[in-house]
Amino acid sequence: MAENAPLKNYQLASSYTYGPIRTRRCGMSLGLNTLPPNLKVCSFDCPYCQCGWTEPTARGRGERLKYPEVKEILGEIETRLAELSAAGERVDTMTFAGNGEPTLHPKFREIVEGAMALKKKYYPAAIVDVLSNAQTVNRENVRAGLKLLDRRILKLDGGNMRVIEAVDKPLVKFDLPEILEGLRTLGDVTIQSMFVAGSTDNTGDEDVADWIKCLDVVKPVAVQVYTLDRFPADKGLKRVPKAKLEAIAERARKAGHSAEVF
Ligand code: SF4
Repeated sequence: MAENAPLKNYQLASSYTYGPIRTRRCGMSLGLNTLPPNLKVCSFDCPYCQCGWTEPTARGRGERLKYPEVKEILGEIETRLAELSAAGERVDTMTFAGNGEPTLHPKFREIVEGAMALKKKYYPAAIVDVLSNAQTVNRENVRAGLKLLDRRILKLDGGNMRVIEAVDKPLVKFDLPEILEGLRTLGDVTIQSMFVAGSTDNTGDEDVADWIKCLDVVKPVAVQVYTLDRFPADKGLKRVPKAKLEAIAERARKAGHSAEVF
């Protein structure tokens, strides 16, 4: 991302697939949404979220919400993959992300199973992955689904609860040691960490040191360090300069982690 490039807008997905869009690192990427169209659903309320605040739309609705039927989601994924394949379009990655936290769908494992079968049928070389906030990592159904994927990218924006409360604002129980243990035992996880400045700042020396201690527990296969690319819910947030992100990634590398700035 160019340091001075303008922040981009983001539209909530109006169905269960979106794109494919060209990405710098994942090639042509098809987005997969397990959540209701045009509604943000998340167990966090991150001030940096590109989907806007969780509170006005879906606070506390994560459990009681009517989630889309598995067959509806997989039916649309199949239709889209068949169209793209017939048109000779490339799909390098299929990513579960969409309108919030994809693993909140109570049948996440079944959806992943179906998506893996569809990838095999239409784009066997594609990578199917997920962007998740990790809050559900200890749910059996979610762990089973995560294990089936080609790659798991899970969020860890801070190494202490003060930072997590400020940067992620969990709306449900978030016990950091339990989450770290869930990530560690899942194995083969990529950690993605957002750093922000302005109204909230998680780039302080001690906070970064705490974050690295958590990486030491999880032992991720890779660490992605990034900052704002799209308009955040909290307009008081600012991007962290590239040099500072590089310095944070370098501290993680010195501690033995394979960290990169995205
Ligand atoms: S976890 Fe992701 S979707 Fe949820 S509020 Fe944070 S940035 Fe938005």
